[in-house]
Formats: sequence, structure tokens, C-alpha cells
Amino acid sequence: MLRRWIFVTVLCASMLCCGCSEQIAESSAIDETSAANEETKTTRDLFAMDTYMCLTAYGENGEAGITAAENCIQDLDARLSTGNASSEIAQLNANGTGTLSEDTCAILQEALTLQRETDGAFNPLMYPIMQAWGFPTQEYRIPDASELQELLLLTDPENMQFSPETGTVSFSVSGMELDLGGIAKGYTSDAVMDCFRSSDVTSGMVSLGGNVQTIGTKPDGSLWRVAIQHPDKEKDFLGVLETKDCAVITSGGYERYFEENGVRYHHIMDPATGRPADSDLLSVTIVSPNGILADGLSTALFVMGLEQATAYWQSHAETFDAVFYTTDETLYVTAGIQDCFSANYPCEIIQEETKP
Ligand code: AMP
Ligand code: MG
Repeated sequence: MLRRWIFVTVLCASMLCCGCSEQIAESSAIDETSAANEETKTTRDLFAMDTYMCLTAYGENGEAGITAAENCIQDLDARLSTGNASSEIAQLNANGTGTLSEDTCAILQEALTLQRETDGAFNPLMYPIMQAWGFPTQEYRIPDASELQELLLLTDPENMQFSPETGTVSFSVSGMELDLGGIAKGYTSDAVMDCFRSSDVTSGMVSLGGNVQTIGTKPDGSLWRVAIQHPDKEKDFLGVLETKDCAVITSGGYERYFEENGVRYHHIMDPATGRPADSDLLSVTIVSPNGILADGLSTALFVMGLEQATAYWQSHAETFDAVFYTTDETLYVTAGIQDCFSANYPCEIIQEETKP
């Protein structure tokens, strides 16, 4: 059920990106050019990283670019999956020590940087907590407070020894486990863009479970149109962003959750409590040329809540922009993208802080 729902979201996102959606009317002039675009378009759908993905590339090198990207995705999936017993991460988690490949090291380094910069809202060591709630196996349960207190002792990055030079990792507390799921898709979409670039694809996009990253513009020079899912309304969008050379990555409790006694428990954990983050945000979309940063921040800012997330943006406005949707049904957009975001709902603009 959940998978089907995510698939719908991906399809919608990619259709809009390819400019072929009926939900957004395009002018006839653009339709004419779009037909020319179609001729040089290569697409491929695949399932990896527990997610439906759609790759699109334009031009004569499209097929080569997409094949390179697909190989890269499968390779990263095989290294990073917590659920595949032979992956680097699963081996590390099982043995409490291991040596990571270059890609995995790069992701872990970024994860630890974000952990520090977000005051721990992003934490790549939440896997014991994810397991306690049953997310990896879908055998859901609600752990009690004392169990969570015990498990939180396993999430302190100070207890992980990591050498980026050699790739060696070890845990000094037994039971610690790594989970790069909050950041891996952003790294992967960056990697897809690299594959496109080295195959001389200058126009293309990838949608990984609704997270979108684009290279260049559409072949006719127009911007990509990326629809941002409404967290409460399956068939509706918060708005549409026009963009180029950018990642547009969303985190929301609606993406993965279970319900018990009418309460929804989602998959983004607050590292301070070990419980699903109970902030005033229903979804966070990060827009940045840097996919891995966008992915890490979408998770972290969701945990922070609107006030802290706003302050974080205000002190990092040069690296990303954001769309927030809150529990009181208000849509916020940061000033950097106000001119390229068409909101479907009344929307408040978050301004940069005026320096005293
Ligand atoms: P995302 O959809 O990018 O927000 O990532 C959510 C995934 O990241 C979850 O399914 C977990 O695997 C992992 N995760 C959950 N909570 C956190 C957190 N606070 N920091 C980092 N990763 C997390
Ligand atoms: Mg994320």
C-alpha cells in the first residue's frame, strides 16, 4: 500500500519534471518544443534502495549516461543497504568494526559533519532505535521509555572511531549501528549527475522516491518543473518549483509510518528522545545544488521544527533554500526561491535575517 503510494508520488514528480503532466497546463509554444525534446529523450525506471526510481536523460548520449548511472546506483545500494547482510554497512553493524569504501567514507564524513552542524538533529547512528520501532522489518511496535533510554546510549558519535584516511570504523559500545538512510539518496542523486556529466549528458534528471535532482535545463532551455507533494493530500501539491542544476529533496512523516490506536508513528527519529520527531513540521523540502546536503538537511530540519529550521536557514542561506509545511497547515518558502516557486496555497516568505 505504502509502496504504491510512493510510486504514484514518483510518477507525478517525474512527469512534471519532464513537462508531460496534464496537471500543469503548458503553453502551446512549449508543447511544440516538448515534442522535439521527446525525440532525444531516454528514460529508465528501476527499483533500488527500497525505492522506485526514474532516470531521464536527453541527447544522443542519454542511453550511455543512464546505463552508467544505473550501474552506479546498484553499486551504491549493494554497499549501503542496512538490510542486505553482505553490504558494507550491514557487515560493520554485525561485526562492530569494518573498513569502508571511498564512497561510503564520503557519505559518513558528510553525515558526521551534519551531525555536528545541526546540533545532533541529524544522527547516522539511529539504527538501533529504528529497529526497536520495527521500521526495517515492518514488524512495528512501540518501545517503552526505559528501552529507549538504553538504546539512546548507542547513538553517541563520540563512541564511534572513524578514520577517513583508511576508512576504518569501530564502535566502542557494543550494539551501536550505522544507518545512512537519511543521506544516501542525496549522495546517490549527486552521483547520478556525475555519471551524466562524464557521459556528456547535459540535460537530465533523476527521481529517487520523489527526491529529484536535475542537470542543466530541459533541452529547449526551459527550467525543470518539480512538484512538491502535499503531505496530507495524496493527489495534491504544495506548489511547483522551477529550477535547474539542483536537488529538490523532501522529508516528511507521511512517507513511511504505522498507526496504532489512531496515533501515527513515522520514521524520522528525534535523536534527543528516540521517538518519531514531534515537531510542528509535516514536511521539509530542501533545494540545493548539493544533493547530499539537501538530503541530510531535509531530515535534520524536519526534526528541528519550524523555528529552529528557520534560524538554521538564516545562517546558511547561501547553501540552500527550503519549503516548509506545518501542522497548522501553513506553507513557508525561503526568500531565495520565492520567485521560482508557484504555491498552490497561501504562502509566507521567510526572509533573511537583517543584520543589526
Ligand atoms: P529521510 O527520508 O531522508 O528524511 O530519511 C529518513 C531515514 O533516515 C529513516 O528511514 C532512517 O533510516 C534515517 N533516520 C531517521 N531519523 C534520523 C535522524 N534523526 N538523523 C539521521 N537519519 C535518520
Ligand atoms: Mg534525508
